[in-house]
Amino acid sequence: MKIDLSGKVALVTGGSRGIGRAVALSLAESGADVALTYASNEAAAKEVVAEIEKRGGKAQAIHLDVVDSAATKKVIDDLAKAKGGIHILVANAGIAIDGLVMRMKDDDLDKLFRTNVFGAYYAARSVVFPMMKARFGRIIFLGSVVGEMGNAGQSAYAGTKSAMEGIAKSLARELASRNITANVVAPGFIETDMTTKIPEEARKALLASIPLGEIGKPEDIADAITFLCSEKARYITGQTLHVNGGLSM
Ligand code: NAP
Repeated sequence: MKIDLSGKVALVTGGSRGIGRAVALSLAESGADVALTYASNEAAAKEVVAEIEKRGGKAQAIHLDVVDSAATKKVIDDLAKAKGGIHILVANAGIAIDGLVMRMKDDDLDKLFRTNVFGAYYAARSVVFPMMKARFGRIIFLGSVVGEMGNAGQSAYAGTKSAMEGIAKSLARELASRNITANVVAPGFIETDMTTKIPEEARKALLASIPLGEIGKPEDIADAITFLCSEKARYITGQTLHVNGGLSM
């Protein structure tokens, strides 16, 4: 199966590192013109752009704090104007703040929900108009295995990730007639900066619970996302694709 995204303009939030970086590389390799955003890590974002260009693809890095609703709208409006449209949104930017429920602080809850839920929603809301104009749209949200299974010490983070499913399903119903699909890709445990903090003992226990016996790579998630962004996934909407080595089934 060949995935051809040539002629498509893609926006990947949080494309400077980890999963977002792999997604930006994968979409560009399939022919998409990619705009990737970063919050603070400009050097990393520029490195991703340079890597894409080295491989013959097209990309640009844009500063965007996804909690800023007005800035998100401006970045999307400007991109759509400059490129003549936006066809793909991967709302990937996210943070994890863990803590037992009795110890979760208001500030941390606020930051988590603002970044992971409001941030994804703001971006999705702003891409709808350019996608309607293009008569094509693919919106992908990043969920998580813990949004499905729950995890002690991650009640707030898990809540932000389950929220992606309700949003995606509602957008899927609302926008289907416009040829815009909305889906969630829910990673299991993937080797990125987000998961390096997991203590060795917990990591070992985790590995033992993954049927495929290994922690995933960002590319495992990027491949699933690239497929869902393509014409080949035209009949898939409102779904959650779990990519977790069998951790949940
Ligand atoms: P990561 O390595 O920590 O990278 C996070 C990315 O998000 C970076 O590009 C960062 O930009 C950006 N970001 C963070 N806060 C932002 C903000 N306020 N505005 C704009 N960008 C922001 O994370 P990851 O592991 O790749 O995770 C990516 C997504 O997958 C997240 O939504 C996460 O919840 C989800 N996920 C990850 C795993 C996993 O095991 N890794 C599992 C399930 C779900 P800077 O570089 O500028 O800081």
